[in-house]
Amino acid sequence: MQNDTESNRSEHKDATDAALSPSQLHTSLSQHFGFSSFRPGQFEVMAKLCAGHSALAIFPTGSGKSLCYQLPALLLPHLTIVVSPLLALMQDQVDFLRSKGIQAASIDSSQSRAEQQMIQAHVESGELKILMVSVERLKNERFRQWISHVQTSLLVIDEAHCISEWGHNFRPDYQKLPHYQNQLNIPQVLLLTATATRKVQHDMAARFNIMQDHIVQTGFYRPNLDLSVVPLAQEQKLNYLLKALGKKPGAAIVYVSLQQQAETLAKQLQAAGLKARAYHAGLDDQTRQAAQAAFMQDEIDIVVATIAFGMGVDKGNIRFVAHYELPKSIENYAQEIGRAGRDGKPAYCVVLGSLDGVETLENFIFGDTPERRNIASLLRLIAQECDENNQWSVVETRLSAETDIKLLVLKTLLVQLELQGVLTAQFAYYAQMRFKLMIGKKQLLEHFDVRRQAIIETVFAFSESKREWTNIDVDTLFRQSDIDNSKLLTIMEYLHQKGWLEFDTKVLTQVYRVDKSKLRQEELINSLSDYFSAKEQSEIKRIDTMLRFFMSSRCLSQNLCDYFNDKHGPVQCGHCSVCRGKVAKLQSYKTTAWPSDDQIREWIFNLNKHLAQGGSSGSARLRVRFLSGLTTPKMNRFKLKQMPGYAHCEAFRFRDIEEKLNQLGLLGIDEPNEVGHS
Ligand SMILES: [Zn+2]
Repeated sequence: MQNDTESNRSEHKDATDAALSPSQLHTSLSQHFGFSSFRPGQFEVMAKLCAGHSALAIFPTGSGKSLCYQLPALLLPHLTIVVSPLLALMQDQVDFLRSKGIQAASIDSSQSRAEQQMIQAHVESGELKILMVSVERLKNERFRQWISHVQTSLLVIDEAHCISEWGHNFRPDYQKLPHYQNQLNIPQVLLLTATATRKVQHDMAARFNIMQDHIVQTGFYRPNLDLSVVPLAQEQKLNYLLKALGKKPGAAIVYVSLQQQAETLAKQLQAAGLKARAYHAGLDDQTRQAAQAAFMQDEIDIVVATIAFGMGVDKGNIRFVAHYELPKSIENYAQEIGRAGRDGKPAYCVVLGSLDGVETLENFIFGDTPERRNIASLLRLIAQECDENNQWSVVETRLSAETDIKLLVLKTLLVQLELQGVLTAQFAYYAQMRFKLMIGKKQLLEHFDVRRQAIIETVFAFSESKREWTNIDVDTLFRQSDIDNSKLLTIMEYLHQKGWLEFDTKVLTQVYRVDKSKLRQEELINSLSDYFSAKEQSEIKRIDTMLRFFMSSRCLSQNLCDYFNDKHGPVQCGHCSVCRGKVAKLQSYKTTAWPSDDQIREWIFNLNKHLAQGGSSGSARLRVRFLSGLTTPKMNRFKLKQMPGYAHCEAFRFRDIEEKLNQLGLLGIDEPNEVGHS
């Protein structure tokens, strides 16, 4: 297998060298895209790809990152697969490519079966050069099985910082991409990101064996952006904003942290005679799209948005970006101000800052860390449920409820166990597979020879008819016949494509092989707890770093470049609040009083009683989470949100609530947690 891969790689390298040369890149640039010259960094990245290497490109948003793969994709011999986190981004890129006459498509869940089949046919015929997919699509076995038969030259990973847990937008599924690259035998990879600190850059490069020399970073410095940090109490912000926006503001984005706040502020701006609209994830698609379209066409001037707004918004003339609250991190800040002044003309970016609300940012982090006892439950479950063949089948949503670990955190844990060699993902199957015959059974069988008829009849024999649909008893079929999951999928897909039956799958079950010798409970609990503590610490540090960043006496532009490992920033930009002599001192304005000790005792007493009545108990961390308003699957199950006291201390720091409960003797010790009784 290894040899196979190696020989394919060297073979491929020759093919690439022959296909791509610098002069061809220039010719293709004007021919296909109508540009006469490359933007900074683009040629360098393409040259690495030309030479058959993998590369990592760190370009600020809007500086032509996408061209780094779009052009080589046309010249490489086979398909380019682009993994992108956002459907809207994919569609924009597909539209752009098609407008240039380039064959590109995305496969996504919004398409009908027939549309997907048409795209697949175009991929198979080699007509399609660029295929965009989500990372979830790659987890899909049906898809992987199909794409593994298609020769692929390049794997492109957009927003590649998602792969690093030290980045700001970690997605556990991304950590499996190096594995998929190997499995699908794709010789080259290109990682694209706008924001990555030095640590994240190293992390990403290491996972894909990208050499230091093949990392291309263009400057972060934007001379046309004027940056300010203005310390303000909540009630002073609206006036400040109205003054800053003036009567005719031009295009502006105001970032807020809560959906409700977006609505309220948009109304306040409208009341002041400004053309403003709210944009957040709580609105329906139509309203959101309408707001975005109105903004793009200059029908409105201002969008008041949560972080949901901006990905894929390519509008050149944004003159003003305000943060009504502190951003979530420096990475978020960089991304959000990066949307201003893309046309190169002056734009103003201002942060209206205070320390109010920092607790909430911090508490979210504590809400995510799994408890030791829940990690223990998970490991115990793996040991118990693993069968004699060392196989463990799991449905993630069920496991999340049973272990009281949030789904995203659970995914991270499982990927960690995979990386430690405890688990090896074998395949995923659908615990529910069903079909509906479109032609008679006899008629269907007549299309096949005797041997194939026997296989199909075996599948039918292990199926049970229910009104319209027939369910396949997958478990028994796999156990009692020589048909395995991949064989079954191939057969059913084929019959489905022929239109002889309709095939449908549900409830994804992941099957892992367990290395029991590595399933050493105590050791793993320690290492996983350490992993999550390190992650918790690193994220708390991220907030501290951000606060220091905004209060620093160093030039903001220079500091920003430094943070993203760009050594070419200015020493003093001359167009930031620090350079103007105004170093920000952020402070707390809000004074919230603690509830009385008796009140807290009563809440905790009732909480314990409620859990005990349900045959369960709560840990120390659960009590703190309850008061801070941070939910877990178990808290949802016991409807703790509706109990008095829930979220009553959300304005306080997690550590302070913990200390308070400790003083009141309410922290107690963690009770052992029995699986199934939690
Ligand atoms: Zn400056």
